[in-house]
Amino acid sequence: MMSSEIADNAERIRQRIRQACERAKRSPDDVNWIAVSKTRPPEHIREAVVDAGLTVFGESRVQEAAQKIEHCPTGLGWHFIGHLQRNKARLAAALFDCVHSIDSLPILQALDAAAGQQGRFLDVFLQVNVSGEASKFGVAPAELNGLAMAAAGCRNLNLCGLMTIPPAVRNPPDARPFFRQLFDLSQSCSEAVGISNLGLSMGMSHDFEIAIEEGATWIRVGSALFGRRT
Ligand SMILES: *Cc1c(COP(=O)(O)O)cnc(C)c1O
Repeated sequence: MMSSEIADNAERIRQRIRQACERAKRSPDDVNWIAVSKTRPPEHIREAVVDAGLTVFGESRVQEAAQKIEHCPTGLGWHFIGHLQRNKARLAAALFDCVHSIDSLPILQALDAAAGQQGRFLDVFLQVNVSGEASKFGVAPAELNGLAMAAAGCRNLNLCGLMTIPPAVRNPPDARPFFRQLFDLSQSCSEAVGISNLGLSMGMSHDFEIAIEEGATWIRVGSALFGRRT
């Protein structure tokens, strides 16, 4: 039998997802895993597809993705998780199925227009700066419902939920209050906008189990699968 490190890592991650779901009394079917492939070459992505059965990948740079995707297997889902600039909206709309990092009205409108021009329909998440750190992208909680209302009105975008990146903490459980805050915001936002079941994009390699316990429906896990980024 051929042994693949990526396949072994994927099996361990799936096991940890199942265990976190068990603790939270949730179904693993409700937790989607985006394999974050930024900085990884197409060969590693192919290995993740062929040996580990992964089908959804996350990239944080539009330009990098543009060069990479054409060398990857077809039929995969591509999610954009980095900060989106307006001048990259056209290319992002062409390359990606989902954008997790909408954090302003101009970006939202630029992506909606770009998707419309290309006959594309994209899923979007609104990135929320729950910690209020100046260094973090994301809409302020107080401005979330207004942006969500605008997103719900976009013809070429489908509002799927909220996304956050908690502050860097040494102990994963210390991220829990930020995940919980995003969950609470999704409840009030759902009500304000009239959309039930907003998803939650939260949790990375070091804290995805905590995120699952707090309701994550999309986890973004890269280095636990592919190894440390250099
Ligand atoms: C890089 C990145 C991830 C994945 O981080 P890992 O620690 O490699 O799992 C998740 N989300 C965002 C927004 C990222 O930029």
